[in-house]
Amino acid sequence: MSLPFTPTPRTRLVREADRAVYDRDAVYRILDEGFLCHVGFAVEGQPFVIPTSYGRKDDCLFIHGSAASRMLRQMKEGVPVCVTVTLLDGLVLARSIFNHSMNYRSVVVLGKATLVDDPAEKIEALRLLSEHIIPGRWADSRQPNERELKATSVLRVPIEEFSAKVRSGPVVDDEEDYSFPVWAGVVPLEMKVGEPIGDSRMDGGLAVPGYLKPYSRAR
Ligand SMILES: Cc1cc2nc3c(=O)[nH]c(=O)nc-3n(C[C@H](O)[C@H](O)[C@H](O)COP(=O)(O)OP(=O)(O)OC[C@H]3O[C@@H](n4cnc5c(N)ncnc54)[C@H](O)[C@@H]3O)c2cc1C
Repeated sequence: MSLPFTPTPRTRLVREADRAVYDRDAVYRILDEGFLCHVGFAVEGQPFVIPTSYGRKDDCLFIHGSAASRMLRQMKEGVPVCVTVTLLDGLVLARSIFNHSMNYRSVVVLGKATLVDDPAEKIEALRLLSEHIIPGRWADSRQPNERELKATSVLRVPIEEFSAKVRSGPVVDDEEDYSFPVWAGVVPLEMKVGEPIGDSRMDGGLAVPGYLKPYSRAR
């Protein structure tokens, strides 16, 4: 069941407000289909927007990376962040240039990132990040050792202040443009999964694991 959610003045969509989605379940479906986000934060007045992967558990997003990276260093201090996730579904070719658009589902989360420093919680966050991207992979792989854990920072961002925007469906042109003689329509776009390529140094006889056959982001 969706929890009712009221946007704040910071997350209320201004333009095309009919495309706004503030429903938690719908937002989580978008977050669970994606695994790449852009994290925005400011350092001494300079905005940085860094692409990275994420995982979600309940009402939290988790991001990780080198303890030495600027992004993770800054966020350890509890810097406010803006996390954006975009799923691109199509190019919308209208008759007029002005009405060209894209079909998409996007989420913006505003919050304060905090460090996950409890060792058990850190391992669990890394596990769910891995499972978010390739379910089944964590248990198959060598687990992180002390050195690797020390070199990795994990941060949590609460999903408290958020919005989503969704555009789907056909071209919308101005009424007088429908007779303009040019092709109009939607070019669907989707992530294509290729055939897995085994590593050349893998010991022989290892089959492609079941969780890669087929790999899919559909949720
Ligand atoms: C793939 C893609 C392509 C786009 N191309 C364009 C473009 O070319 N030109 C253009 O003007 N807009 C484009 N948009 C829409 C753009 O993201 C903003 O929604 C738009 O600029 C209007 O923002 P606003 O003025 O309503 O809100 P703002 O005042 O900019 O933001 C207010 C709040 O609304 C929420 N919000 C705004 N946009 C989004 C969003 N996309 N998803 C989730 N929450 C959001 C946030 O919480 C934000 O804090 C594109 C979006 C996507 C996903």
